[in-house]
Amino acid sequence: MTKAAGNSLIACHDCDLLFRTRPLRDGERAACPRCGAVLYHQKPRTINRALIYSLTALIFFGLANVFPFMTFKLQGREQVTFLTSGGLELFQQGFWGLGVLVLTVGVLLPFLKIIGTLYILIPLEFNLRVWKARETFKFVEALSPWAMMEVLMLGVIVAYVKLIDITTIVLGVSLYSFAALIVFMTLTTAVLEPREVWERLEQRP
Ligand SMILES: [Zn+2]
Repeated sequence: MTKAAGNSLIACHDCDLLFRTRPLRDGERAACPRCGAVLYHQKPRTINRALIYSLTALIFFGLANVFPFMTFKLQGREQVTFLTSGGLELFQQGFWGLGVLVLTVGVLLPFLKIIGTLYILIPLEFNLRVWKARETFKFVEALSPWAMMEVLMLGVIVAYVKLIDITTIVLGVSLYSFAALIVFMTLTTAVLEPREVWERLEQRP
């Protein structure tokens, strides 16, 4: 177990001894008093690391939205596309629902997830109190499965492979930033322990 468990009953996986857990400090381990097996441990500086990854993700989100995504060159014509172009194009061609869906899961929800995560992590890191922190974290956890940038990226790769034979495609700063954004959002999720965040939020007066 690697969870930073707090005040619940767990059993030792080696000798079945039952005992009550308590929150650990950074890098601390809880060992079974009878057989010495390591039961759970606190990964060091999780909030701090998750905060750095989230801030980096926000920077890449900005870059992904400002710079061109792909440039298509065909017979002297050049068409520059942006991250939101695909969704907007669907919208203009009458595929309203699809356009809204693409823009929501690919752009809007990831943005809300990053902002919501920062809204929780910055005050935790600097011991500040903010309005509706618990509600915000609940919201962030609820929308996590819907922020599917990977699906949008997959669509882009498929389109790229299909079009590369008929047009010249120049990959833009936005596309690389978008890929980096996916990596840093995944890192944030990997390092952040929701239980630890809940405990820290509950400890506040
Ligand atoms: Zn034991």
